[in-house]
Amino acid sequence: MSIKFYNTLSRKKEEFTPIDSKEIRMYSCGPTVYYFAHIGNLRAYLFMDNLRRVLKYNGYNLKHVMNITDVGHLVSDADEGEDKMMKAAKRENKNPFEIAEFYMNAFLADIDKLNVDRPEIIARATEHIDVMEEYVKKIIDNGYTYQTEDTVYFDTAKLDKYGVLSNRNVDDQKAGARVEFDQNKKNISDFALWIKAPENHIMKWDSFFGKSYPGWHLECSAMGYKYLGDHFDIHTGGVDHIPIHHENEIAQSKGFCGKIPANFWMHVEFLQINGGKMSKSLNNLYTLADLEEKGFEPLVYRMFNYTSNYRAQINFTFEAMEAAKVALSRLREGYLKHQEGTEDVSDEEIKSYEERFLEAINDDLNMPVAMSVVWDVIKNPNKSKKLQNLLLKFDEVLGLNLKDYQKEENVLPEEIQKLVAERNEARANKNWAESDRIRDLLIEKGYTVKDSKEGTIVEK
Ligand code: AMP
Ligand code: ZN
Repeated sequence: MSIKFYNTLSRKKEEFTPIDSKEIRMYSCGPTVYYFAHIGNLRAYLFMDNLRRVLKYNGYNLKHVMNITDVGHLVSDADEGEDKMMKAAKRENKNPFEIAEFYMNAFLADIDKLNVDRPEIIARATEHIDVMEEYVKKIIDNGYTYQTEDTVYFDTAKLDKYGVLSNRNVDDQKAGARVEFDQNKKNISDFALWIKAPENHIMKWDSFFGKSYPGWHLECSAMGYKYLGDHFDIHTGGVDHIPIHHENEIAQSKGFCGKIPANFWMHVEFLQINGGKMSKSLNNLYTLADLEEKGFEPLVYRMFNYTSNYRAQINFTFEAMEAAKVALSRLREGYLKHQEGTEDVSDEEIKSYEERFLEAINDDLNMPVAMSVVWDVIKNPNKSKKLQNLLLKFDEVLGLNLKDYQKEENVLPEEIQKLVAERNEARANKNWAESDRIRDLLIEKGYTVKDSKEGTIVEK
């Protein structure tokens, strides 16, 4: 069945055909690791993961790269403000390399909890400075840059057109330019490729430009080229990347080899909170840990995201999270009923569910429609293992870990299992005082304790 994706480049849904039928090459803009990811950021990676899963469900292999920005991203995407890593280092009184290490690990732990499959290649900018240097030198040699004392700029006027994604051009920008734009730039859309490091700047490298560091946009072009070549299938990011970061990536790639690097440009819309923006000052910026603290396991947040298509804004409320929590537990209950079922369903019925599901996901990842098929399977009055297996198959795309789900009452928490083992050992050693102590502890924790020939039996 054909796959259709909305392509920001053409502003329409297009049929997706891979460049190489065996392997799809894809690049996703990853996080800037200067703080914990908030749930809006995490929506972007859930989208990226669903895209991966849909492609795999269709039988494709993937070579997928995601970058970790640990240098060079200024507070504004357009060369303004402080470096995000340096700012965080000051805030936490640490070295920016420590900041990057800590928040990168926190980010990876978050996406693991959300059951996001890690891309085949996770590339840290600071480990690719040499790759970026080679890349920028070629752009310079090709005549697309100019230089001030401390910055190498990309000259966007040298392009046939700048702004192919957002459909702008440099002249419009000049006409509408705000007066305060960096006077060193020839055109407002020009941007820094390489920057000389001020004395107190910690993240700097020896390069053709002295002690210096790369501009933020460069890493994606250089690392994308290194791992995926100069022309690959899909590039993803958030909608905020369209007007600057991705335009600049395209500009760099044109300056480097004359090509737009990817065929498909896919962008995920923003998560809103109570109908507005998430921000620290409004005290409505949540992390995954905040949701866990409020009693929502990470997969509930994944479930919540399936109420909307990735191209639509989604409004986060705790009421909606409660609804997602209930929905996830109903889904698990329904799955278990099919697991225990003994009835039969026809192959035609299974096939019809499969077709509807595939049609939905291949229609630009239409997860709300795909979920409606899942619910039809759950609600099927014939409880059947065939339907259980079908749900497991759908879960390859949903990523809700249905296969790991067992009724809670059947599984004792690890801590209790450990106490039971210790009590059995104490009894075997005729250490009655220890055995009684553990029994009392188990009772205190809300369990009944019975002794049998096979050992201690506990029940909640
Ligand atoms: P950053 O770490 O700031 O570079 O952002 C990481 C990713 O999160 C980018 O792809 C952004 O487009 C995305 N992003 C930031 N805020 C939101 C939001 N509120 N909703 C969805 N995605 C977001
Ligand atoms: Zn990028």
